[in-house]
Amino acid sequence: MRSLVLTFALIVLSPLSATAAPSAPSAADRASIHPVLRLLPREPAASAGRTAFVDVNVLPMDAERVLMRQTVLVEGDRITAIGPVADLAIPADARRIDGAGRFLLPGLGEMHGHNPPVGSTTEYVQRIYFLFLSNGVTTVRGMLGWPGQLELRQQVRDGRLLGPTLLLAGPSFSGASVASPQAATLRVEEQKREGWDLLKVHPGVKREVYDAMAHAADRLGIRFSGHIPLEVGLDYAIERRQETVDHLDGYIELLGGDRGPLDPAGLAAIVQRTRETNTWVVPTMALWETIIGAADLPSMLAYPELRYLPTIEIERWRASYERRLADPKFDRARAQRIAENRVVLLKALADGGARILFGTDAPQQFSVPGFSIHREFPLMLAAGMSRYDILRSATRTVGEHLAETDRFGVIAPGARADLVLVRANPLANLAHLREPAGVMVRGRWLAGDDIAQVLAAYAERRD
Ligand SMILES: [Zn+2]
Repeated sequence: MRSLVLTFALIVLSPLSATAAPSAPSAADRASIHPVLRLLPREPAASAGRTAFVDVNVLPMDAERVLMRQTVLVEGDRITAIGPVADLAIPADARRIDGAGRFLLPGLGEMHGHNPPVGSTTEYVQRIYFLFLSNGVTTVRGMLGWPGQLELRQQVRDGRLLGPTLLLAGPSFSGASVASPQAATLRVEEQKREGWDLLKVHPGVKREVYDAMAHAADRLGIRFSGHIPLEVGLDYAIERRQETVDHLDGYIELLGGDRGPLDPAGLAAIVQRTRETNTWVVPTMALWETIIGAADLPSMLAYPELRYLPTIEIERWRASYERRLADPKFDRARAQRIAENRVVLLKALADGGARILFGTDAPQQFSVPGFSIHREFPLMLAAGMSRYDILRSATRTVGEHLAETDRFGVIAPGARADLVLVRANPLANLAHLREPAGVMVRGRWLAGDDIAQVLAAYAERRD
């Protein structure tokens, strides 16, 4: 155990190694694989070669359609071919995965996710990453940076650490972390130099500080995303091209949605501006109900997926929720009103053609990595989004948002081999995404039975 902690400490303390060239796994890296993950079969050498999903029904996600009875070929970390099972030849050395009667769709994106907190053990990091993968989440945009994450991102890329492809926001810009325009400029330059994928905006940033951040970000070509500081406001953030607005932050405030029904004219106007400026929104509907105190604690405590996390973590979540409700300033009717208005707002954004990215803010506050997708789906359905549009927000739209980093989010030749194999058509029922028959991440195959075995082992080890 000590060596695991030590390994992790080294990771956290050596940000320079983030730029080191990829190398073969060292003995130390292999030693850091947690015993639970040793339950997974060693990837056969052939997987560096070819895999064929044979006779499978494909949701390519280029349009709302299912291609019946296809073969999909994968080589290394890429999809190389797709065609009718009767027509497409399967290379003799390819591993065959039986797709008969099953459905294959692109891996899902968690566009407002998190790494475990700084100081977490290697075991915990591996657990969180595995939970994402176990439910087909193969890309995670980490929305709060700390230095060692760049090394984790590299280890995942090199195949030394099993996890979703990571896109990382740096340490956040908040009222506490950036006090002046000069400090904001320096912080942008520093994060760009260090190699973060984007900047994270938190509450409390003053207007002039936000301006300096936005200006430096434009100059250096780095995105900024996240919350809408009160002093900045949604209209201004959109005008300054904040790239994603997470949690639908700023909308309810702008439209008076904490006091009464949303003003229809104001709603139509902000939806139109959101679309015209190509601003992306990451609703995180379920998590926000928890954050504002509109969720039902007994229901959340009964979530079966809580068993995959340490009991101490669940106790922390419970205590923090109870504190929220016990706060004398807590107003249940107001929380309920906001929750209802958020559904109306998401409907207006979806109907109005705004670009919606799927996110659940896992892991935190009853949002368990991977499993949390099933807490988010019902609220997106309640907002009138179709099952296809919900899946699209987690696949193709994510690929469009990150198009300059790689091609993924669709099943097509050349796209990254991130795939989820399920037993029935998720366009008929999103619950069919539960307990997938298998998940492929960058060409590495995790069979459903092996996933189940690792999950059972995690449920046994909750210390
Ligand atoms: Zn978050």
